[in-house]
Amino acid sequence: MSGMKELHNELHRHYALLLGVKSPWAVNEVNLDMAGKRVEIGLEWGQGQEVLCPECGQRCGLADHAPERTWRHLDTMQFETLIRARTPRSRCPQHGVKTVAVPWAESGSRFTLLFERFAIEVLLACRSLTQAADLLGLDWDAVQRIMDRAVQRGLKRRELEGLAHVGIDEKSFRSGQSYIALLTDLDGSRVLEVVEGCDQKTAEALWLSLPEEQRRRIVAVALDMAPAFIAASRVAVPQAALVHDKFHIAKHLNEAVDTVRRQEHKDLMAQGDATLKNTRQLWLFNPLNFSDEQAADFEHLKLSGLKVARAWAIKELFSKLWTYCYEGSARKFFKSWYGWAARSKLKPIIKVAKMIKRHLENILTYLRHAITNAVTEGLNGKIQSIKFNARGFRSFQNYRTRILFFCGKLNLQPL
Ligand SMILES: [Zn+2]
Repeated sequence: MSGMKELHNELHRHYALLLGVKSPWAVNEVNLDMAGKRVEIGLEWGQGQEVLCPECGQRCGLADHAPERTWRHLDTMQFETLIRARTPRSRCPQHGVKTVAVPWAESGSRFTLLFERFAIEVLLACRSLTQAADLLGLDWDAVQRIMDRAVQRGLKRRELEGLAHVGIDEKSFRSGQSYIALLTDLDGSRVLEVVEGCDQKTAEALWLSLPEEQRRRIVAVALDMAPAFIAASRVAVPQAALVHDKFHIAKHLNEAVDTVRRQEHKDLMAQGDATLKNTRQLWLFNPLNFSDEQAADFEHLKLSGLKVARAWAIKELFSKLWTYCYEGSARKFFKSWYGWAARSKLKPIIKVAKMIKRHLENILTYLRHAITNAVTEGLNGKIQSIKFNARGFRSFQNYRTRILFFCGKLNLQPL
């Protein structure tokens, strides 16, 4: 009989050590469920111990104990491990009856700190959230709550010191039915905030997510030519240079080339000419990445005298603008490029050329602030994969959490 008791005490001490439980908490029960592959560890608050009020930290009397709660802990020997305890409640003269904090978990969490720590590591390491949830034996809601708390912690601790160059960008959300706008730290390659929508209110909300002190120190913003984003930035960061960056300009020019190709292909097909069939990629991709066969085809097409070949050449030439060091030379170049584009008789190209001309001042700012939304483009792939993995996200808020979790470079850990 005493042998059994000793074994029990030994087991209690073992788990107390394992959990790092210290006085006045002690292990009072260890239940091994062999069939269910589960260990339940009961913890108990020592008799007669004083408690601290969680509001003011003052020592006060024990009121009672809260009903029993359970926390999921790291598995031990592949046994799911749970901690059970009744948390003491303090009776503070000033704050009344309050549940005290437990050392092994954050308030409101169903997991111990060590488990959350581990879960965050697994989530960060897994390419797929489904896989991470399976590995952890958690459902989607639980995974989401762990991420929510991690992001809240990270945002609270985030340093914005030295933030100078940011990007504003929009992405489609829910298969293009709505949009989200992102604020990115271009030097730090991290997403700072995500809001739903792409109108002026959205862009204002994005800016307001930064403390005013940080906003005043922004030097330059990379953004598209969308009037809503421009207007919001003028108000929020009047001192900052606006830079319509090369990624956005290239996107508009590429779209124009593609529109020309589609129209011309349609016209040619009406005459039974399939020259432009399956050539979409050729006009949009960098020729440097072509296979030999593609390169040969493209060489032929480029010299074909087709409208799309002209549109493509105009688009290609524009990129020379980014190589100038002096504004005077850049302006001179633009004037001649614009003349060529305007005379091209290609409506989609003329339309983009006019738009570029209207915004030229905020394109030439690139010569002084060589920033682009390349960072955001780079994060795109990551964001895209979150989207595909996001079986469990039902709301924009969950999506925002996931973007900040994976692309925010936040300090997420609870310890
Ligand atoms: Zn108090």
